[in-house]
Amino acid sequence: MSDRTELSELGEFGLIDHLTKDLKLTQSTTIKGVGDDAAVIDRGDHYELITTDMLVEGVHFDMSYTPLKHLGYKAVSVNLSDICAMNGTPTQITVSIAVSSRFPVEAMDELYSGITQACERYQVDLVGGDTTSSLTGLIISVTAIGRVEKSEVAYRSGANEHDLICVSGDLGGAYIGLQILEREKEVWKENPEVQPDLEGFDYVLERILKPEPRTDVIQELRKHSIRPTSMIDISDGLGSEILHLCKHSECGARIYDEKIPIDAATATQCQDFNLEPSVCALNGGEDYELLFTISQEDFEKISKVKQVSVIGHITDKASGAAIVYPQGEEIQIKAQGWKSF
Ligand code: ADP
Ligand code: MG
Repeated sequence: MSDRTELSELGEFGLIDHLTKDLKLTQSTTIKGVGDDAAVIDRGDHYELITTDMLVEGVHFDMSYTPLKHLGYKAVSVNLSDICAMNGTPTQITVSIAVSSRFPVEAMDELYSGITQACERYQVDLVGGDTTSSLTGLIISVTAIGRVEKSEVAYRSGANEHDLICVSGDLGGAYIGLQILEREKEVWKENPEVQPDLEGFDYVLERILKPEPRTDVIQELRKHSIRPTSMIDISDGLGSEILHLCKHSECGARIYDEKIPIDAATATQCQDFNLEPSVCALNGGEDYELLFTISQEDFEKISKVKQVSVIGHITDKASGAAIVYPQGEEIQIKAQGWKSF
């Protein structure tokens, strides 16, 4: 018997735990290391936030239907979303790329036009990075830096029993957008003469190709003096993220199926794929909305915030995390396997 453990046995989160469980923190300024949407560093009068996300060709994006400009924009967005998930404001990014000779300079110009567009839109400065070659594909890694007042930082671990569970925007759209792109790619592979039929799918395609970090929601919460008790961004689907919140906060959750916000176009297009919209919201990914909890006292205040829906409440740990259907039936939310390995 050789000592070989397949990555798939651990999965993404198991691997991260395995690699980081014995790390020792030595700096008194390190407030939060591995385990949240961003690291938290004490900068005296405020906290600094740092987060990194990498996009890999063939794993996170398919060059046959991803415009490079959108890809650049998205690489920035997904990182800014993790700063938002700490209730923070993004300030700077660095950008590292590994690129094969398959790509001309003009392609990199397109990528950077998207990156700079996102920087302008969200007022963050691009302050550095790294450039190297790759044998075949394109890899983009962005690090985002942000700040948050010490009293306002939101961790995954702060949810309390009876807190209200809230979500911004609507869910499931990015997953349906991806299904449409994959469908058109298959049609195109069989018959390259046929132009892709993407008419009427603008919203869901924008959701997958050009997600926006919810800096607006963070500002609204601040404006209404709402301090989330816990927060995470939705990159892997509502189900996976609610399990993270419950694990870190040592609690359970009840989410009401009919309260999950789903856009009308998303719901219609789900029907074409014979998919339940709420299943797309739970198990699809890449919506980059914010999932957070607030104290019940803030219910009045949150009802004034248009882009936010209250979808459930926090329960005790023993009751687990479950979806409640209109007739009262409850289904436990289970962790999904990791697709990458
Ligand atoms: P998110 O989906 O919010 O980007 P991830 O699931 O990618 O978060 O990562 C979870 C946590 O694990 C984060 O705190 C991240 O910094 C940390 N992490 C991920 N990969 C590694 C790694 N290879 N080494 C150390 N920490 C890591
Ligand atoms: Mg995150």
